[in-house]
Amino acid sequence: MLGGGILKGMAVTARNFVGSYFIQERMTTIQYPEERAPLPENYRNFPFLVFDGDDAHAGLRCVACQICEKECPPQCIYIVKSKDKKPDFVGKPQLYPATFDIDISVCMSCQICVEVCPFDAIKMDKVFELSRRERFDALLMQKAELAKSNEYYHQIHPTEATDVDAGLAAAAAAAAAKKKAVASPAPPTPPSNPNPA
Ligand code: SF4
Ligand code: SF4
Repeated sequence: MLGGGILKGMAVTARNFVGSYFIQERMTTIQYPEERAPLPENYRNFPFLVFDGDDAHAGLRCVACQICEKECPPQCIYIVKSKDKKPDFVGKPQLYPATFDIDISVCMSCQICVEVCPFDAIKMDKVFELSRRERFDALLMQKAELAKSNEYYHQIHPTEATDVDAGLAAAAAAAAAKKKAVASPAPPTPPSNPNPA
């Protein structure tokens, strides 16, 4: 029929238009900020620093190796190493960042810092409401603001955080076994008898 395609198209449009008022799955508009659409688990925005336990300083995983600072394409990470050391997650004394800043007005959310970190110390956050009134330095996030607990990491990326915990637990167990082997080496094996009876 002449014009049949147009009528079909208009029927689809009308169905979707009416459906957008009454069918839940088609209601794409929500009353933000009172209502919030759930973010997918792999959503990412800007990086944050993970700490274990309750103490953001003692539990901070970052050892200030500066790999992320060197690899960040727009160079928006700034780290100053500490003068002293504190134990890392296996109890080994390590440096920590005395200063760790990220200029999120420059960060492009590429996640390269996360990929290159050998200590699972930096991960991608989901917070996106970061507008500030002040312009100067307002978007320079500092260590105190960047540090977030491992529990928080589990809340926003549960699958990834569980995998990371398993990897860290395996690394800690391997380090403990190595330490034990060094502390009490196995007795030497007696030479075998060259002239057995
Ligand atoms: S996400 Fe990318 S741009 Fe942002 S701090 Fe990490 S490496 Fe730099
Ligand atoms: S976040 Fe990771 S890569 Fe960056 S300085 Fe800390 S330990 Fe090194």
